[in-house]
Amino acid sequence: MNNLKNSTSDLLFVRNAFREYYFKYNDLVETPSRINEREFGFMTFQTGMMRHLSFNNIREVYATLIRNTPSDFYCSNAYYNFPANLMQDKGWKGADLIFDIDAKDLGLPCEVSHRYHLCANCGEIIESTADPCPLCKNSTVRVESIPCSNCFISLRKEIKKLIAILTDEIGVEDDNISVYFSGNSGFHLYVYDACFHHLDSRARSDLVGYILGNGIGPEVIGVRKGANDKVSIKFPKAGFRYGWSMRLARKLRIDQSSSSKLTNFINKLGGYERFSKYIIGYAKEIGIKIDPQVTIDIHRIFRHGGTLNGKSGLSKLRCVDLNKFDPLNDACLLNDTDVQVHVKPSNLKFKLRGRTFTANQKKEKLPTYAAVYLICKGLATTI
Ligand SMILES: [Zn+2]
Ligand SMILES: [Zn+2]
Repeated sequence: MNNLKNSTSDLLFVRNAFREYYFKYNDLVETPSRINEREFGFMTFQTGMMRHLSFNNIREVYATLIRNTPSDFYCSNAYYNFPANLMQDKGWKGADLIFDIDAKDLGLPCEVSHRYHLCANCGEIIESTADPCPLCKNSTVRVESIPCSNCFISLRKEIKKLIAILTDEIGVEDDNISVYFSGNSGFHLYVYDACFHHLDSRARSDLVGYILGNGIGPEVIGVRKGANDKVSIKFPKAGFRYGWSMRLARKLRIDQSSSSKLTNFINKLGGYERFSKYIIGYAKEIGIKIDPQVTIDIHRIFRHGGTLNGKSGLSKLRCVDLNKFDPLNDACLLNDTDVQVHVKPSNLKFKLRGRTFTANQKKEKLPTYAAVYLICKGLATTI
């Protein structure tokens, strides 16, 4: 929330609510495996990012959370010999495999109905992005979203598709997968299988390409460009039993005996090049919408399980049962003491802890958890 130009009283108010959370819920803060080999980092409410920290045990983590009350607290996916050293001297030993799926990457139609534009300089609401800020004339805009229940339904579906690919096609055991609500508008999926720890960025990039459906072309089902712009079809001996060959065969409604049917279809489309474009486009369309950079980065620090997200005041929590986990209820754990705030947008509607709030560019009395949610998103200020 540091970038939103919140006032000092906003920062203090949110900081106090976070501090109370860490007193009350420190048992939710997870103990990472091999804690003394991890790099930690955090953002404070008033200064920038601290990195290259290391802790010997979870009690040291609790003490830091209470003493420093960070807006955001992170732990590396990597294991190092010397986690507190600078990057080149850490001695990388391996890293958990992590995937990130965020609502903003799903291209959902509901997005425009709960998206707000703010001046990146002064935080004023921008009604038309074509005009500069009415207050400070700055033209840099930042976008804030209040994810709705439809966003979470779509995210859940996408995570389930990812779990299916990982278990059915990549060989990850179900028991080695943990899914977390990120604390704002997405989910993180962790693979704790030691077989994947040693994959370098390049190998992770290949895996990401497969999951996204990038680089999937007609050759997956044995279609190649022949001589004189003709098409050569040689279906895979193993058939279309799994993975991309199965997905493409289903889309094309073909089996091992469909060679002439497929030739007709390709000719109808206009030849090999058109068919290739069709397959590449379809693979991208149904590929899973993971954020590639997150998975490829083997030195990244990730928001830590059980800590608060400074963009929302919600907790990053493990979803023991993905179907039952309700992010806007289960991860909303700040106190409910009423507080007066000024809400910036007109016709703001959101739901937290089963309660629907409507606020309209005026003074509103909101419970602390709802006030923090809006302040973190730059959509309200304390009075
Ligand atoms: Zn401005
Ligand atoms: Zn939505």
